Amino acid sequence: MPLVPMRILLDHAAENDYGVGAFNVNNMEQIQAIMIAAKETDSPVIVQASRGARSYSDDNYLRHLMIAASELNPNIPIAMHQDHGNSPATCISAVEMGFTSVMMDGSLEEDGKTPASWDYNVRVTQEVVKFAHARGVTVEAELGCLGGIEDGQGAGLSEEEAQNHLTDPTEAGDFVEQTNCDALAVAIGTSHGAYKFKKKPTGKVLRMDVIAEIHRRMPNCHMVMHGSSSVPKELIDIINQYGGEMPETYGVPISDIQEGIKHGVRKINVDTDNRLAITGAIRKVLSLEPGAFDPRDYLKPARLAMSKVVAARMVSFGQAGNAGKVEMKSLEEMKSYYLASV
Ligand SMILES: [Zn+2]
Repeated sequence: MPLVPMRILLDHAAENDYGVGAFNVNNMEQIQAIMIAAKETDSPVIVQASRGARSYSDDNYLRHLMIAASELNPNIPIAMHQDHGNSPATCISAVEMGFTSVMMDGSLEEDGKTPASWDYNVRVTQEVVKFAHARGVTVEAELGCLGGIEDGQGAGLSEEEAQNHLTDPTEAGDFVEQTNCDALAVAIGTSHGAYKFKKKPTGKVLRMDVIAEIHRRMPNCHMVMHGSSSVPKELIDIINQYGGEMPETYGVPISDIQEGIKHGVRKINVDTDNRLAITGAIRKVLSLEPGAFDPRDYLKPARLAMSKVVAARMVSFGQAGNAGKVEMKSLEEMKSYYLASV
């Protein structure tokens, strides 16, 4: 089946109380790892690419790899999402390149660094919604700013500073109403990258109560958790065991994500955990077999390691077993849906 609009996956997840992991990719092995996991667990799939990933892989490679994934897995609905579009132009080019969903991150200005005003955020999000919905494509927006930097995108806020840029639940309703976005990324104290929290997060720094409050006010809003890798110690340990030097760090516990899913979180972004799995597997091979020089010697175990992490997340988030149950709608059908709802 062709790539599907992300909205239908989120709607199904909301109707059936589960969340869908959105996994970042740059290359063939990562896409294959996600599809191995999806097949194993019978899960619907969201694959996402940042601006950095699009320039690394060239849009054309990425597009054809995604088409290959859908050809090889005709029974699995797959959405292709632009992660953190920094401007309407980025989102428009993604739609033209065949992405079925885009994120307009108007929480930051076009430089991807400076926290933006409310008016700017509303204006650019509206612009992207107008363009995307006319083509049946899903739009994710963001209110509030996350910590850290990912692929050059992010205000670089520290764990402490991020607490001053949380999503305000009293503003979320107006924002969604004014922009008509399909999903809302919320800032609850998490950061992009591996270094989210210096110690195991408590409710004071990981503000799950913000999610619960938004859900109470807007039970039909699909929320997105960014920076939601769990950064498992086992993965850090493998890297360090084979020559890496990663300091102690903590991510978002799976149990908190599951709590979020009970309160309207429908998309969970995971990148770091997969990077850690890949790096650990490659380090292990190169350290134990210093003579190895065929890239397949380390890329195969790397792909397998990532697929295990992805499969575990798919099970934890509850999307496993749902691939065949999602009611299919094409971009064309979504276009009519949006037209009718304006
Ligand atoms: Zn993000």
